[in-house]
Amino acid sequence: MLKGKTALVTGSTSGIGLGMALAMARQGANVMLNGFGDVEGAKAEVAKLGGRVSYHGADMSKPAEIEAMVRAAEAEFGAVDILINNAGIQHVAAIEDFPVERWDAIIAINLSSAFHAMRVALPGMKQRNWGRIVNVASVHGLVASAHKSAYVAAKHGVVGLTKVAALENATTGVTINAVCPGWVLTPLVQKQVDARAAQAGISEEEAKRQLLAEKQPSLQFTTPEQLAELVVFLCSPAADNIRGVAWNVDGGWVAQ
Ligand code: NAD
Repeated sequence: MLKGKTALVTGSTSGIGLGMALAMARQGANVMLNGFGDVEGAKAEVAKLGGRVSYHGADMSKPAEIEAMVRAAEAEFGAVDILINNAGIQHVAAIEDFPVERWDAIIAINLSSAFHAMRVALPGMKQRNWGRIVNVASVHGLVASAHKSAYVAAKHGVVGLTKVAALENATTGVTINAVCPGWVLTPLVQKQVDARAAQAGISEEEAKRQLLAEKQPSLQFTTPEQLAELVVFLCSPAADNIRGVAWNVDGGWVAQ
């Protein structure tokens, strides 16, 4: 379905972003990966699916590097047709204990990076009158939890930014939407599972059970593959008129 299109997925060396990059490649798109850690592993996984794959190591807290990454994708593949703003980090602490440098980093990586990537990618999309931007927000873009001030503020910001961008482009072929996952078992959440297990002196399995029982009525983690299929749908013609939504995939979290 996406043959000839190019997808740039930020934070795609692991977790949800990697799942989305794989789904884009499966649909025939060229893919530019980004993120830290096992770059070669991620590249190899995407390349196995047969399409063209590239990588840019931009740090999502640095506006100039974000701009360079979008330009590099345009130079290599001719366009950025699909932009998935996914890179994100977490820090858990009460406001009065929250390290100022962690606040700044979360706002930069989880919120401002989406603004910078859109700012640079939108003109090309508008010129071609086709584009898809999917911002990976969170249920924490819709509701709050204690001890996640920066993350919740950033994700609420992403949902607001998504709506503004959707309105500014409403009469064009460029759609902008957000997806809002609940718990997904990725390295980002595994750290929270490990912290809970260590703090309470319980097993990893029990920590996972408690985490789900507190917030996610289905008692199941959402998978990166399930989220990626939603993004594939948002890239399809059936979704041409879906604009500015914040679509939760959360096992019933925000229905409570
Ligand atoms: P993850 O830790 O597995 O992946 C994060 C990705 O972002 C990695 O590729 C990492 O290298 C990259 N990254 C981190 N800092 C970066 C930086 N400065 N520059 C470039 N890349 C950077 O986490 P994940 O759970 O897959 O999270 C992906 C997104 O999904 C995040 O925005 C997160 O907030 C969101 N999310 C996750 C969950 C969940 O339960 N896991 C729920 C809701 C939303």
